[in-house]
Amino acid sequence: MQIIKNYVNGQLLDPFAGQYIDNVEPATGQVYSKIPNSDEHDLEQAVVAAEHAQKGWANTSPEKRAKILCRLADIIDANADMLAEAEAIDNGKPITLAKNVDIYRASANIRFFAQAITQFASESHAMEDVAINYTLRDPIGVVGCISPWNLPLYLFTWKIAPALASGNAVIAKPSEITPMTAFLFSKLCIEAGLPDGVLNILHGTGPSIGGPLTTHPKIKAISFTGGTATGAQITKVTAGMFKKLSLELGGKNPTLVFADCDFEDTVNNVVRAAFSNQGQICLCGSRIYIERPIYDKFKQAFVEKVKQIKIGDPLDADTQHGALVSKPHMDKVLSYIELAQEEGGTVLTGGNQVTIEGRCENGYFVEPTVIEGLTNHCRTNQEEIFGPICTIMPFDTDDEAIMLANGTEYGLASSVWTNDLKRAHRVAKEIEAGIVWINCWLLRDLRTPFGGVKSSGVGREGGLEALRFFTEAKNVCVKYG
Ligand code: NAD
Repeated sequence: MQIIKNYVNGQLLDPFAGQYIDNVEPATGQVYSKIPNSDEHDLEQAVVAAEHAQKGWANTSPEKRAKILCRLADIIDANADMLAEAEAIDNGKPITLAKNVDIYRASANIRFFAQAITQFASESHAMEDVAINYTLRDPIGVVGCISPWNLPLYLFTWKIAPALASGNAVIAKPSEITPMTAFLFSKLCIEAGLPDGVLNILHGTGPSIGGPLTTHPKIKAISFTGGTATGAQITKVTAGMFKKLSLELGGKNPTLVFADCDFEDTVNNVVRAAFSNQGQICLCGSRIYIERPIYDKFKQAFVEKVKQIKIGDPLDADTQHGALVSKPHMDKVLSYIELAQEEGGTVLTGGNQVTIEGRCENGYFVEPTVIEGLTNHCRTNQEEIFGPICTIMPFDTDDEAIMLANGTEYGLASSVWTNDLKRAHRVAKEIEAGIVWINCWLLRDLRTPFGGVKSSGVGREGGLEALRFFTEAKNVCVKYG
């Protein structure tokens, strides 16, 4: 059985207290590794290492930092097959998705921010013939990055890359449910020659290490991605500590399908938007609103397509739909299918746990499930389920579609499917969300801002937004003469 270790000051270490927790492979239900349940002692050691390393790292030129980070990105690419397999085992996601999306994006994240920092120019403003102001962008110091289980290495690197590129030292906490690729990544950091202490990775649960990380007085900024309730808790416990917080939280994303869309392309993409990664992407479109004239035709084609999704062992190259991440999560998803029916919904396809013959017979597999007949305000349509469940509902007018789309506490992402240019822009303007995709889904340019409104979060990541978050602006005003 593999024993995962923390990565502190350039070394792979056991936790001080010797406490470990089980790590389960979701496709088999078997414990296959142990991870440290780190605590305040491990944190203190990491903070000392990070503080010590940060000054040297900040004084390393952006070009040299970029060079080391690009080397790390190259090493990720060279190990892509190994990392993709590890991600599929640890998370239950199809290996093809892991390779083409998760691991591909992990190295892209690092390369992108490494290059971006070399272009991150300072601003200056002349005050006529009186003075000139210029803005310094200093690293914050030691920062904390906390990431979830759904896109383990993808979101882990999305946070640490801009933090490191900007000259900070980082203490990162991956999800205890999917720690493996972050552990493997720590070995790649050693290979890449990342200076000791610049990145420290502590494994463990939220209460044991996540909480202490957020409240540690020497950690001046927290970049967090995870559930809305955890985001609220972090806001609460850090109140009065004046930390910078970036909170990327839950979603309940609407998909608006208009009668004038490209029918087949829309069906294919709306299926992908609802069920990619077993519906466990914060951006998945789980509420699908369809303009009434095409409702029946769309429903039929959509359900047909969903039935064709191939469920199977995440390690099979042709699997499209793998296991849910854990038993508690599967139970939660199944309970929502029951709730949807109690609320008056009809299951059009799916609705059940599936047994996969062979090595995966005890895995956490749930069929892609489509439900109709629910109101917008029922719990199934209001609460984030984060699994392979979507609901469909007709609408009659653009305004009704916008009202339905905006009718939850969340505001992360949305997609609009139409060939009417004016409608597309008007609807995009009215939707309360950080992201509106028009005739596409999950197309990401890393230069663009990423984040949510309402209960989906505070702050933006991506491009300059991330570099601004991980730096402090200092204005210097120089009087002439
Ligand atoms: P979670 O909030 O349970 O955990 C996220 C991380 O926070 C984990 O590493 C966890 O150990 C840690 N944590 C838990 N309690 C903590 C505490 N009190 N203090 C500090 N850290 C703590 O979320 P999850 O179940 O891992 O992930 C699923 C959620 O993440 C969903 O709600 C999903 O929508 C959201 N998500 C959002 C985005 C986004 O970009 N907005 C992206 C991916 C996932």
